Amino acid sequence: MKLLEDRIRKDGVVKEGNVLKVDSFLNHQMDIELFNEFGKEFKRLFEGVEINKILTIEASGIGIAAIVAQYFKVPVVFAKKSQSINLDGSQYTSKIESFTHKRVYDVIVSKKYLSPDDKILVIDDFMANGCAAEGLINIIEESGATLQGVGIVIEKGFQDGGKRLRDRGIHVESLAIVDAMDASTGEITFREQ
Ligand code: 5GP
Repeated sequence: MKLLEDRIRKDGVVKEGNVLKVDSFLNHQMDIELFNEFGKEFKRLFEGVEINKILTIEASGIGIAAIVAQYFKVPVVFAKKSQSINLDGSQYTSKIESFTHKRVYDVIVSKKYLSPDDKILVIDDFMANGCAAEGLINIIEESGATLQGVGIVIEKGFQDGGKRLRDRGIHVESLAIVDAMDASTGEITFREQ
């Protein structure tokens, strides 16, 4: 998505440790007009795919998923990062290793909000090693719902999350794929899509 690539080039900051900071429009301040363009583009990319719910993960996924969901006219459920898991069987749980914080979280979704009838689109801001997406997919599988696709705003193509999911036959669409980035020069190279 050219608009997004241009914005990343203009406002993205490449940090050491393969981290791309896009706080000025995606992860802290949010450019809602741009998010609307994400919504239109995901709707186009998943045209004809039956989707009745969007699943994302707190915190950065929520704003994006909420705007994108308006184009699909479906509710959004977000997985919560939880300190304490209820052991009463009322929640689906999965462990996710955070790429940016280098720690493992338990994430939970109430069983009330996912069922075997659901056809789910997973939405998230970034894909690096794929842990966040895989954690959400584990929860979908546990619930008996169907995973219909994964929509990512920025995929770092030099990390293997996207490849791992596509190798499993999962329909992954990323609005921008960064193939290389250099913290010393700030240079960012995008994959032609
Ligand atoms: P993964 O689980 O695929 O390794 O990493 C994805 C998660 O880590 C995303 O939900 C995102 O919040 C965070 N993340 C991974 N890489 C980056 C990055 O380069 N920049 C930012 N801002 N977040 C990232």
